[in-house]
Amino acid sequence: MLSLYVHIPFCRERCRYCDFFLVTRLDHVDRFFTALAEETRSKAELLKGERIGAIHFGGGTPSLVPVWRLSGWLSQVAGIAGMDDETEITLEANPEDIDNTRLDHLRDAGVNRLSIGVQSFTDRKLRALGRAHTAADSLRTVSMAMERFGSVAVDLMCGAEGEGPDEWEGDLRMTHSLRPQHVSVYMLTLEEKTRLWRDVCRGTVELPGEDEQSAMYRAARIALTGAGYRHYEVSNYALDGFHSRYNLSSWKREPYLGFGPSAHSFMVSGGEETRFSNVGSLIRYLDDPLAAVDFREVLTREQRFDEEVFLSLRINRGLPVGFLRSGRSTGDDRLDDALAGFLEKGWIRIDEEVVTLTGEGFLFADLVAAELIHG
Ligand code: SF4
Repeated sequence: MLSLYVHIPFCRERCRYCDFFLVTRLDHVDRFFTALAEETRSKAELLKGERIGAIHFGGGTPSLVPVWRLSGWLSQVAGIAGMDDETEITLEANPEDIDNTRLDHLRDAGVNRLSIGVQSFTDRKLRALGRAHTAADSLRTVSMAMERFGSVAVDLMCGAEGEGPDEWEGDLRMTHSLRPQHVSVYMLTLEEKTRLWRDVCRGTVELPGEDEQSAMYRAARIALTGAGYRHYEVSNYALDGFHSRYNLSSWKREPYLGFGPSAHSFMVSGGEETRFSNVGSLIRYLDDPLAAVDFREVLTREQRFDEEVFLSLRINRGLPVGFLRSGRSTGDDRLDDALAGFLEKGWIRIDEEVVTLTGEGFLFADLVAAELIHG
């Protein structure tokens, strides 16, 4: 089973905190799809005979581009690889792009899961994040999508300038009342060279501190698990059976193939695991989509071990202590000390020699992983 990711690198404008690879000029959309079709033809050998479990249109803003372009690409893939009604086809959408007609067209094109970049249901917070939509757009879009799609995901963000617990709990309450099948909760991170980063460096903006952000993360966990959502990954919650198949397969280290500038791939063949990524330049991609791959590495035994620990903790798959002992280069005593320290802090539990994170431990998943790998 193979998953596919398509990076649609266009946004109307860049949000204040965003450092993703994208352009804000929309005049290259047609050329982009021509290049995408060419890249897909060039990867036909990797697609042939495969059954496609999930397709994810990410970006950027996939809801900006013409729907017929998306359905054209889906038909091209269906002509090479195996797709059926079970294939999860997700499209990331921004509320300002969506109306009933567009939703109907997306559904007719085969999209069966809509992932909406809501971030908040308050105008103040959306302005603080530099988002182009309003609270009314958030509400309207989620409601319309819930009427048309059996699987709707809502992205929320906490930790915006001036945000306090009441505003955040309002966002959680509204989400809960709309009851989408999936909710992602991201803590705002300050990325270098963004507009927000410059404002924080200049001292014109102050963001909530780490403790306040952690409190918001905990509040989300309490509210969402209390409302019946399963916390299945550090930032993700789902009603039963509605986890993101695409994301879960990449966290489980199953193969996926990326298309478009800056897209990453992970393929497994003949016992070898290879990661590769496309060039992070739209102009170079458009000029020669067949030379899109500009980085490739075959994973070493150490890299496989590191990824297995890091990703298994994120989805709380459970790590056998024996596996940790076998993969580390440092001694068992240091591992025992690290595990004892995390147990004392209440970040992990160990049942029958298998390590899992506690709810509190999810907050420190990266730190725990780093220590279990290298500590
Ligand atoms: S819409 Fe998403 S991808 Fe586009 S600039 Fe905003 S955060 Fe970044």
